Amino acid sequence: MLNQVKITFASRSVNEGFARAALAAFLVQLDPTVPQLADLKTAVSEAVTNCIVHAYPDSIGPVTMTAGLYEGGLVRITISDRGVGIEDVQKAMEPMFTTGDPSERAGLGFAVMQSFMDKVRASSTPGKGTRVTLTK
Ligand code: ATP
Ligand code: MG
Repeated sequence: MLNQVKITFASRSVNEGFARAALAAFLVQLDPTVPQLADLKTAVSEAVTNCIVHAYPDSIGPVTMTAGLYEGGLVRITISDRGVGIEDVQKAMEPMFTTGDPSERAGLGFAVMQSFMDKVRASSTPGKGTRVTLTK
């Protein structure tokens, strides 16, 4: 690993923008193109929004983002929470699956992450929390 940062913030919606900006600031050293940066920020937005909306439905809790830079320009980002967790991760990752309010949620967050990143992995323990790993 060449470099890494780890940031923990409260699951408030204003911090979705903070996470995007913090990631962009970290990735400056990579000299990414605008589209590359936009892709990473979009994927991180979806993962952080999920923590805000789903992990802590009626409360505020910690969300941790780590961003790592590896040889060859590989970027790995993990977003983790200590929220409610996911019963069936495989099902949750299917396009159009949502446990949210269908008038507000399309169930496409994981699909967006998958389309903008090379690899998306999610692991979760109900009652303990969720970790999503994004690689590009
Ligand atoms: P959209 O992202 O389109 O607004 P969505 O958030 O429901 O809708 P996904 O982001 O694909 O869709 O997530 C699918 C489902 O996975 C969610 O409805 C929720 O049940 C579950 N989920 C995702 N992330 C978390 C998390 N961090 N904690 C708990 N549940 C989660
Ligand atoms: Mg979502």
